[in-house]
Amino acid sequence: MQQAELETGRLDHQQEAARLAALIATGILDTPPEPGYDAITRLAAEYFRADSAGLGFADESRIWMKSSWGQHVRELPRKNSIFEMVLAEDGPVVVSGFSQSPQLDGPLLILKLLDAAFFAGVPVRSFDGKILGALVIFCHEPRPGLAPDELRMLESLADMVASQLELRRLRKSFTANGSRRSRATSVRAGWPSRPDLRHALDEREFVLYYQPEVDLSTRKIVGLEALIRWAHPERGLIPPMDFIPLAEESGLILPIGDWGLAEACNQIQNWCEEDPRHGSLRVGVNLSARQFAREGLADHVEALLLQSGISSRQLGLEMTESSLIPNMSTAMEVLGSLRRLGISLLLDDFGTGYSSLNHLHSFPFDVLKIDRSFVGRMTEGDQPLQIVRTIIELARVLGMDVVAEGIETREQYRLLRQLGCRYGQGFLFARPMSADAVTQLLRLPGRVLSDPETCEAGCN
Ligand code: C2E
Ligand code: MG
Ligand code: MG
Repeated sequence: MQQAELETGRLDHQQEAARLAALIATGILDTPPEPGYDAITRLAAEYFRADSAGLGFADESRIWMKSSWGQHVRELPRKNSIFEMVLAEDGPVVVSGFSQSPQLDGPLLILKLLDAAFFAGVPVRSFDGKILGALVIFCHEPRPGLAPDELRMLESLADMVASQLELRRLRKSFTANGSRRSRATSVRAGWPSRPDLRHALDEREFVLYYQPEVDLSTRKIVGLEALIRWAHPERGLIPPMDFIPLAEESGLILPIGDWGLAEACNQIQNWCEEDPRHGSLRVGVNLSARQFAREGLADHVEALLLQSGISSRQLGLEMTESSLIPNMSTAMEVLGSLRRLGISLLLDDFGTGYSSLNHLHSFPFDVLKIDRSFVGRMTEGDQPLQIVRTIIELARVLGMDVVAEGIETREQYRLLRQLGCRYGQGFLFARPMSADAVTQLLRLPGRVLSDPETCEAGCN
């Protein structure tokens, strides 16, 4: 780490070309300043009690600021900039107490002009190690330097930026390859039709299955996720992605969703009657964008709680970022009133939405559910593992619980525990099952599922 005599502009040409190629692959230069990154610069400024914090990406000649806290800067020349110091150093740079130095030029002079007595900057790297930009903080008051754990904090904030960039890249390829949701959309061309759905609703053909969520250290069932199925008399059990998109498009999701919420509340009450200790279970119900946008959602939920006699602590509502986006203006208000009722709010499929950090920072979620596409890739190498690690770290910093979705293998289970992920769900522990089957499972002593380490997947 360098402290003073700084020599900039000595980047190797090939290194620089590779660095720029990695930067361009992220697409970050094409976008205006992104409020999604404000959570990170704010966290950095607060943690270090800094006067300013900034996140910028460097192309050949300029620094493109994607977020700044304190002093607002949009764009800077790269030459002789403090970012150039980080690039040239290929690592963290901390400059403190330089104001006494008689000869100031280049970046040090700039720091002086900014009236900064202390500066620290760490690189934001692509997952293959190329520097893309830097996260920096300034203080007007001098400080002695950064303690090793402070430096690690700044670096893990920079890692969060890197994960966001990686998520952006993955999302691009995810969309290009056809996501789960767009595959489901293609089913709509044929069966079912809107009248089929209406008929199913009238004939009470929908059922809720439930998948256990477990505490990963004890394997105790701490909650359940309600997942809708269509028990079609001829076609058998139809998965939600084959009819939920049509239900959403046609508006039938509103009565279907109302049915689902009421059914889940009644089922929670049934389980409590069977054993009052089941009162500690939280059942998550998935909510779609249209349900969320409807007037009076919180009143509706409150009425259901009263009717069924369950406590708000027993209910969770799961929503994806994309269900919030069309109604951003009302989203905050609705989430606030649901929260005031004491209902848990779970951000579903984290990482697949548009601007994950932005929403995480602005909305009052209690729980973040890591999308199963990330869990599924965890054992494929360092990069996907690093994303999951960063998401867990991010949730910890923001004081949220984390549930990893789609745990299928012992290796994923082991890695998630190592990374400090507290909760999980997946076929390794239990598949979604009927309410009756769950009743049996809840009778296990202490509600503890058998250890997948000593038993084949799905042994419960
Ligand atoms: P989701 O909320 O993310 O639900 C988790 C999905 O992952 C479920 O699929 C579950 O069966 C599946 N899953 C769980 N563990 C594993 C695993 O280890 N491996 C794999 N490959 N998959 C696993 P499902 O039941 O098909 O539901 C799909 C989606 O449909 C849900 O995703 C949710 O977005 C939506 N959905 C389900 N029920 C409802 C509902 O009542 N209302 C609304 N609006 N949407 C619902
Ligand atoms: Mg869900
Ligand atoms: Mg999910």
